[in-house]
Amino acid sequence: MSVKNPQTREWQDLSRDHHLAPFSDYKQLKEKGPRIITKAKGVHLWDSEGNKILDGMAGLWCVAVGYGREELAEAAASQMRELPYYNLFFQTAHPPALELARAITEVAPAGMSHVFFTGSGSEGNDTNLRMVRHYWALKGKPQKQVIIGRVNGYHGSTVAGAALGGMSGMHEQGGTLPGIVHIAQPYWFGEGGDMTPDAFGVWAAEQLEKKILEVGEDNVAAFIAEPIQGAGGVIIPPETYWPKIKEILAKYEILFIADEVICGFGRTGQWFGTDYYDLKPDLMTIAKGLTSGYIPMGGVIVRDEVAAVLSEGGDFNHGFTYSGHPVAAAVALENLRILRDEKIIERVQAETAPYLQKRLRELNDHPLVGEVRGLGMLGAIELVKDKATRTRYEGKGVGMICRQFCFDNGLIMRAVGDTMIIAPPLVITCEEIDELVEKARKCLDLTLEALK
Ligand SMILES: *Cc1c(COP(=O)(O)O)cnc(C)c1O
Repeated sequence: MSVKNPQTREWQDLSRDHHLAPFSDYKQLKEKGPRIITKAKGVHLWDSEGNKILDGMAGLWCVAVGYGREELAEAAASQMRELPYYNLFFQTAHPPALELARAITEVAPAGMSHVFFTGSGSEGNDTNLRMVRHYWALKGKPQKQVIIGRVNGYHGSTVAGAALGGMSGMHEQGGTLPGIVHIAQPYWFGEGGDMTPDAFGVWAAEQLEKKILEVGEDNVAAFIAEPIQGAGGVIIPPETYWPKIKEILAKYEILFIADEVICGFGRTGQWFGTDYYDLKPDLMTIAKGLTSGYIPMGGVIVRDEVAAVLSEGGDFNHGFTYSGHPVAAAVALENLRILRDEKIIERVQAETAPYLQKRLRELNDHPLVGEVRGLGMLGAIELVKDKATRTRYEGKGVGMICRQFCFDNGLIMRAVGDTMIIAPPLVITCEEIDELVEKARKCLDLTLEALK
């Protein structure tokens, strides 16, 4: 890649010489060098070449309130001056973590009034794994160990996160653990075959019951799922899916972990994905939107019945140096205040999400588009060769071609195989949505042209 700014080359050299990047094709990265992002404001990024780019992914699904919020910088700076660090181990605590725990539970579903803090979503899911097994041991059922996840689910990249998730590429690289099993995902467009979406939704949900019976209810600790799969490709389950899952969960004595790392804090136009689908999780993983990504933080929100059992249980031998870090907690508190006081989630629900969904669906008329789906501030565009049969362009890497056109034309969309996905900041305006959709259409045109 030729560059205008000599500093770009210097940074790319640093990347090649000193940096091992997360989730990257190393060979390709070495050849091309990374795009260097230098600043951001609102929903836009700037790279070191001076290009202005609309961030259709809110970073990695996290920058809910948009870039450049002074209040968040101020919250971090003043907390650093007051108490930059202390921990929550061994019978100590500090005000920001405690006040944040209350603030989170005020917006969480009823009956979930305790929070365990972590440094990330992955650590949250590690916590879930240990917490549910500890819970069943305290209840006198230590054999309840198995956790059921889903193929193509994403629960983070620690060993437990990767193992709970259903990404085969991660499993292959040391990301498996005993005692974790997976069921099919509710991905109708990709895997529904001749079934109607509703019939497929029921079928996919029934796989949970099948698996519980196969493993034995007495051995199952929990089922973990994202209300809407994010990294898997913004997979919005058929309408029959969650009601059927709820029915099955009500029948068996197992815990339900909702991984709200993406859906939480407004992405669906409700505070949590479980509010949107009216689910009743026992534990909810949070991260990303909790701090709008300004600083790392995650956690687990715990249902009262579970917290009550834990609270009678003596030592829980688990925690992180940065659990509830005071600076992160101060930023999260301020982020929640902004979400609440500026009625950002209300505006997503009433105005911007309906507008985004309407405009996105206009792309359905494009010859390359097999399906547009979305909900709240989430969207997916399936790229296909044949709309009617949902046939892909095999082996062409259409998604990556499209993603490159997007980048080169001032838009970040992510490619999951041949599915283009978006999750813009929740503060995106209708005008900026117009910009997003117009750029997306242009890139679809360019992609189609390139395929000829
Ligand atoms: C991003 C993500 C995680 C992992 O969070 P990290 O902060 O990257 O560890 C877990 N679950 C879901 C659903 C995610 O999208």
